[in-house]
Amino acid sequence: MSIIVERFNKIKSNIKKVDKNGFTKIVAVSKTFPLEHIMPLINFGHHHYGENKVQEADAKWSQIKMSNKDLKLHMIGKLQSNKAKKAVEIFDYIHSLDSQKLADALSKFQNAANKSINYFIQVNIGNESQKSGIPYNEVDSFYNYCVKEKKMNVLGLMIIPPNDNKTKEYFQSIAELNSSLGLKELSMGMSSDYEVAINFKATYLRIGSSIFGDRN
Ligand SMILES: *Cc1c(COP(=O)(O)O)cnc(C)c1O
Repeated sequence: MSIIVERFNKIKSNIKKVDKNGFTKIVAVSKTFPLEHIMPLINFGHHHYGENKVQEADAKWSQIKMSNKDLKLHMIGKLQSNKAKKAVEIFDYIHSLDSQKLADALSKFQNAANKSINYFIQVNIGNESQKSGIPYNEVDSFYNYCVKEKKMNVLGLMIIPPNDNKTKEYFQSIAELNSSLGLKELSMGMSSDYEVAINFKATYLRIGSSIFGDRN
């Protein structure tokens, strides 16, 4: 068996120990890796992959997606609104919805393409100036804008927590905000902290290096 499939199965069994309800989904983050490196996991039957650049995702996935309709692509990186049209073509989920301008562009192009995209609103949970995301206290009004005015299908919130020792506090406060909005899905947890994230109601884990190996 491929080492990638072995690692994936190991993660699945780790998840099973923590996730009592079986709601957790794995987005296998394949950014920077070529398709042949990812292929064993596709052949194994896993369908959800994460990329952080529109151009790279398009070059890597557009062909195989046409012949394998079960494959679902997740945009997890910063998305500029001038790339919204291409993003709508290639992605099924966008985890980085982080501005009104982007919401306007995405809703326009998804309506024109008659495609239903699933969204996560990225929240700047640590108020870090170098990170994007909606400030915590503006999430409520931004959520209403996306759902009520733009009719976007928002599944939940998404965070990339700061690299400090307060991860659990960030997980806790985003889980509370997520459920106060009545949202059922929550995108958080990466290779280093996915088991912790599940304990705070994460449902979409974005896991890269512990499946595919280190990125250069
Ligand atoms: C790269 C990336 C991941 C995956 O990180 P790993 O530590 O390799 O699991 C998850 N989320 C985002 C937003 C990323 O850019």
